[in-house]
Amino acid sequence: MLVDTHAHLMDSAFREDLAEVLERAAAADVGAIVCVGYDEDSSREAVHLAETYPQLVAAVGIHPNYAGQATAGAFDRLRQLATHARVVGIGETGLDNYRQHTPPRTQREWFERHLELGAELRLPVVVHNRQADEEVAEMLMHRASSDAPVAGVLHCFSGDAAMLSAGLAAGFMVSFAGPLTFKNAGSLPELARRVPLDRLVVETDCPYLTPAPHRGQRNEPALVRWTAERLAQLRGMPFDQLARATTDNARRLFPGLSADWA
Ligand SMILES: [Zn+2]
Repeated sequence: MLVDTHAHLMDSAFREDLAEVLERAAAADVGAIVCVGYDEDSSREAVHLAETYPQLVAAVGIHPNYAGQATAGAFDRLRQLATHARVVGIGETGLDNYRQHTPPRTQREWFERHLELGAELRLPVVVHNRQADEEVAEMLMHRASSDAPVAGVLHCFSGDAAMLSAGLAAGFMVSFAGPLTFKNAGSLPELARRVPLDRLVVETDCPYLTPAPHRGQRNEPALVRWTAERLAQLRGMPFDQLARATTDNARRLFPGLSADWA
């Protein structure tokens, strides 16, 4: 069984055929899916989906690209939402220097608030990092050595070797998505080999980042298998063993996931 640790099933791309998407996920043995919010509305919708479908759980947060548009009181409402029983994580949050829709200083403030909330509610934090390795590494290391550390995951890892080391040292899991399967994956395959087996998880980040050989189509949870297969191949291990390890890791990362599987 596999867990898709990062999906945006509340995206309008799934409005027409969510039931079929979930059927294909089940047929592909994707037993649980974390629906990750990126602003207030999508976080609320993620919780709604998690209330509706037993195989779905939610993470709630405001993505750095949307933090600049967040209205007054959004964070307090998010905090309220985060106490919902179906919420297993905080995020996505982080820093994005590729698209600076939000001024860097505002991004840092929001990232810090999410880390704080994760520590307060003892929920793992889903971290987005785009071209911000040094700052993300510094903030995570700082948090790890504070008296309110947090657990979490570096979602859709795309950093360098130093970022990987810092994330692991901070106690984070490392999640790979479709780009690992791309021909132009750069140093990602080499870094994916270096992650300890007990720190690896997989995700789709759907509807984006569709893995090969399905590039060009909409991404969906059933396709997380391609990323897991690529990881197994890179690490020279049987697929089943890789699947079991990443699923165990996903349960440790998001303890709220396990409740339904008892
Ligand atoms: Zn995402």
